[in-house]
Amino acid sequence: MGVFDDLVGQDQATTVLSRAAAAAGETVRGGRGAGMTHAWLFTGPPGSGREEAARAFAAALLCPDAGCGHCDQCHQVLIGSHPDLETVRPAGLSYSVKQTRELILRAAGAPTQGRWRVILFEAADRATESAANALLKAIEEPPPRTVWLLCAPAPDDLMITIRSRCRQVTLVTPGTEAVAHLLATRESVPWETARFAARAAQGHISRARALALDEATRHRREAVLSIPRSLTGVGECVSAAERLVKTAEEEAAASTGALNATETTDLRRLYGEGSTGKGLNRGLVRGGAGALKELEDRQKSRATRIKRDSLDAALLELISFYRDVLAMQFGAGVELANDDIRYELDQLAKVSTPEETLRRIDAIMRCRERLDLNVNPQIAVESMMLSLRVKHV
Ligand SMILES: [Zn+2]
Repeated sequence: MGVFDDLVGQDQATTVLSRAAAAAGETVRGGRGAGMTHAWLFTGPPGSGREEAARAFAAALLCPDAGCGHCDQCHQVLIGSHPDLETVRPAGLSYSVKQTRELILRAAGAPTQGRWRVILFEAADRATESAANALLKAIEEPPPRTVWLLCAPAPDDLMITIRSRCRQVTLVTPGTEAVAHLLATRESVPWETARFAARAAQGHISRARALALDEATRHRREAVLSIPRSLTGVGECVSAAERLVKTAEEEAAASTGALNATETTDLRRLYGEGSTGKGLNRGLVRGGAGALKELEDRQKSRATRIKRDSLDAALLELISFYRDVLAMQFGAGVELANDDIRYELDQLAKVSTPEETLRRIDAIMRCRERLDLNVNPQIAVESMMLSLRVKHV
């Protein structure tokens, strides 16, 4: 089994990457290695597996056997501990120029294992403009054995000067069958559950995995999908908005709480707490307090991002609900994302018109745009709920 086997439904990308990995191996052995490039850009819709594809490619570059999938090198890459692979994840809403400069310095080092030094930049679209400029310089003049792997939703999300220097790998939304097959074979999920999760996640692999394996995720989905039928009056709309925003907050708190605590403990230890009694006080005077404040700011900004992402995921779920309703109203024989609640979809399809359904989808899209513009979530979601109200059930 090779490292590219896990890339579901991405045959074209896999071909390009395997060829490049073979060429890279040739370079390491002293050959010309035609077809290898120092900067790569992985794009594709959310859930298509951009980071996974980049990580598989990193393994193929660092493995002596072009990504066999079972040697030490491959294993270290896949669990994120390979000394020649640096993975950068956005901690907050954007990357600062300082973070990027530090990264570029580290990237310039020679590979410890003699092959490549790989920098995997997840969500490169979140780099600030000055950070992107620093990045551009690094990509323009890469050290001979450094490879940059950038991930972003679409090529347009990066400055043209950066993307024109990258070789592009475009990933596609994998089909329901392919995702279900992955869940069934890799995660041993029963076939019916795998099909349900793949359909409901609409090609979003990690979402499908969460729906198949995590009960809390399934409950959250049920809660979101029960909203449309509950919106019978103004009071119901306001309380549905409150619930949705609160759920997003709780989800963010759950996924950041433990991480924040570990980071804070690590930082305090770095400044001497726990070693000698007086260490912390001396250390804090010398800059620990500043570093702690900086860490807290970063954690706050990360929490905001996760809150926003999880609210957006709920809105996308609502859109999938109304898209199903619309498909039923038009009698289109397409597969429904939410086939498990077919009866509820049918009820709404019968008491409303396709025009009303389209208006509702529009209202959700508008809400997403407003959230993007930093409108208070409660206000934006409340006004959306009012537009979704059902007047005659
Ligand atoms: Zn290997």
